[in-house]
Amino acid sequence: MTLPQDRSPNLLLGATVRSAERVTPGFVRLALHGADLERLVDRGLDQRMKLLVPRGAYPAELLEPLLPEREWRRRWRALDPAARPALRSYTVGEARPALGELDVDVFVHAEPGPASAWALAARPGHPLLLSAPDAGLERAAGDRVAHGVQWHPGAAERMLLAGDETAFPAIAGILRTLPSEAAVEVVLQVADRADLALVEPFLGGAVPDVRMREPGTPGGLPLLDGVAAWADAHGAAAAALGDRFFAWSATETARVARIRSLLTAAGIRSDRAHAQGYWNDRPRSD
Ligand SMILES: Cc1cc2nc3c(=O)[nH]c(=O)nc-3n(C[C@H](O)[C@H](O)[C@H](O)COP(=O)(O)OP(=O)(O)OC[C@H]3O[C@@H](n4cnc5c(N)ncnc54)[C@H](O)[C@@H]3O)c2cc1C
Repeated sequence: MTLPQDRSPNLLLGATVRSAERVTPGFVRLALHGADLERLVDRGLDQRMKLLVPRGAYPAELLEPLLPEREWRRRWRALDPAARPALRSYTVGEARPALGELDVDVFVHAEPGPASAWALAARPGHPLLLSAPDAGLERAAGDRVAHGVQWHPGAAERMLLAGDETAFPAIAGILRTLPSEAAVEVVLQVADRADLALVEPFLGGAVPDVRMREPGTPGGLPLLDGVAAWADAHGAAAAALGDRFFAWSATETARVARIRSLLTAAGIRSDRAHAQGYWNDRPRSD
């Protein structure tokens, strides 16, 4: 569920890089720390946050502590577009709020945009602002709110997870919450098999259908082939389960509609098939 900005429990949190490690060929793990991170919701799953990727030093307007989402966005919009931080969505990785610690796994694109480039250059001591749910504000908004989470399996007893590298932190976060015997099927797209290391520790008994992407080509077509093969083999049985089936997928934005239609053409209800654009296969202006 996602609340409107004026009710968002997100606050602008300040963090500092403790380490930035190339954990696999494709991923940089940013280990962040700071007192503000003690406020972070520790939910795992596909919990979304925004990184404000700096271009040089942060403007003073954004450095006031704990700005609510509506206010930091207002200030951000008023800044010179050439100088303001780039906004990029990322998944809240392993969070240890009691210690003020958070890990963020950043996939480095072949043509690095601001976020990938910043992660590659990150060194201990570098500051980073992120907008993420504050545990106290979220509690105050009510029990049923899980702001920025799209994994809503409900009564599902069979599940499908599908995604490319940018979705691996979210898929790992979701798998971490499932019992090892859960009936979950997984379709993954990678250019380098070594990047599967982000997900493999959490697969339990699931054997993923891994589709290879030609290195250097962005694309999402191999993932679509994998979802199509899954839908041919299992779509009708999953559809017959109704509420007891749930699919979650994330990949390049232009391919999302195709994933949704592959699943709904197999008879799966659209409200049981979440498909989300995680990145755009075209240069961005911001
Ligand atoms: C809810 C949500 C959660 C996300 N979580 C994560 C996460 O935890 N980790 C993570 O790495 N990403 C995650 N993403 C994806 C991330 O936001 C995008 O990949 C982002 O666009 C990267 O920003 P950038 O500045 O590096 O590149 P951009 O400026 O956005 O793009 C620069 C260039 O890179 C190319 N490009 C962008 N993405 C890809 C790609 N995936 N593969 C190949 N080429 C690409 C574009 O074509 C463009 O030419 C998430 C997205 C969403 C919506």
